[in-house]
Amino acid sequence: MTGKAYTIVVKLGTSSLVDEVTREPRIANMSLIVETLVKLRRQGHRIIIVSSGAIAFGMKRVGLDVKPSRLAAVQALASIGQGRLIGLFDDLFRQLNQAIAQVLITRNDIMDFTQYKNATNTIHELLDMGVIPIVNENDTLSVAEIKFGDNDTLSAITAAMVHADYLFLMTDVECLYDDNPRANPNAKPILVVDNVGDLNVKTDTENAVGTGGSAVGTGGMTTKLIAAELATNVGVTTIITLSSQPQYILDVVENIQQTESLTVAQKHEYIQTEVLAKRLPLHTRFLGLPRDSQIKSDRKFWLLHGLKTRGALIIDQGCYDALTRKNRAGLLPAGVVEVEGSFHESECVALKVIPTRESSLNEAEERGHCRVNYSSMEISMIKGMKSSEIENVLGFADSEYVAHRDNIAFPPRTTSA
Ligand code: GLU
Repeated sequence: MTGKAYTIVVKLGTSSLVDEVTREPRIANMSLIVETLVKLRRQGHRIIIVSSGAIAFGMKRVGLDVKPSRLAAVQALASIGQGRLIGLFDDLFRQLNQAIAQVLITRNDIMDFTQYKNATNTIHELLDMGVIPIVNENDTLSVAEIKFGDNDTLSAITAAMVHADYLFLMTDVECLYDDNPRANPNAKPILVVDNVGDLNVKTDTENAVGTGGSAVGTGGMTTKLIAAELATNVGVTTIITLSSQPQYILDVVENIQQTESLTVAQKHEYIQTEVLAKRLPLHTRFLGLPRDSQIKSDRKFWLLHGLKTRGALIIDQGCYDALTRKNRAGLLPAGVVEVEGSFHESECVALKVIPTRESSLNEAEERGHCRVNYSSMEISMIKGMKSSEIENVLGFADSEYVAHRDNIAFPPRTTSA
């Protein structure tokens, strides 16, 4: 091993594993993926796969061409297909003496911070054993309210959980373009992105498909950009590259090792030159933002992405500034302007901020999340009041705060270094 050893998450969509027409497993491509990942393991890197395909494998097994709309039927298909998917991976990895493990996650499993850390520890233990964990959403038990929804998001969450260095989103286009390359021949590839939030590209939701989104998968470029934002916010550099050429991962990892000490500007230039000279395959690299301290960022990430929000608390700009300044405060009842929706104590709630004094309540923008010490009904009764009045109004005062500062999280606003 010459370069540094990285923790790398590789996300494989259904279209990388299943033929869109015949719905049969793409065994040749899977073999190439397996060979590539075993090479990376032998170079000393720690590898985690996030693999879709359970539902498609299940459909093939029972001879279905069209995905049923009934949730129970989809769940049943996932349970048929997941075993076959892992079985095939195991057959292929076994030829190269590489052990694998199956990890199935639902959002429910990580709703509690201890459980979130526990799932992380299990994956680390597997990596320490030299095993490649293969993660998928536990579709058989997930219902809509607790679903990650797509494996792009799940892969970003997995990468954040294990503090991965790199996340590869393997897809059916080489990279991100500024427009749909299939419709616009002048669409330009975007090679390096410093801050996903600043991107100005047309994506599938705007009906000018930036690319992707096959008949067998659930993702497209939009979910990839969301995943890239999630992952880069916690310091995970994210790469989009072609799933039919998995060996590109080796070239990109080698290039990453060579460019590690370069500044962002130098990286832009170097990657551009190498891609143009065809010494490096076309790909998009979303640079990870600088990491917070690990403990702080774990809890923050979990608050922002591990939990589903129930309702919202509306606060004004002054309160928002107090919650985000260096010695940040907790959220006091006096800071709450309005309560939306219904939730219990300890649930995760969105924090919405009224942008200016002149703005109305419905102009409030969601900026972050918090876990509350009181229910929606209780907060409605104490909002705008001093903490000393809580006991008089509610008959008890579990905390002077509506949310403690450790239970409040906002995504980073800084740009990349
Ligand atoms: N978990 C689903 C499956 O294994 C796929 C979800 C996705 O395509 O993003 O079939």
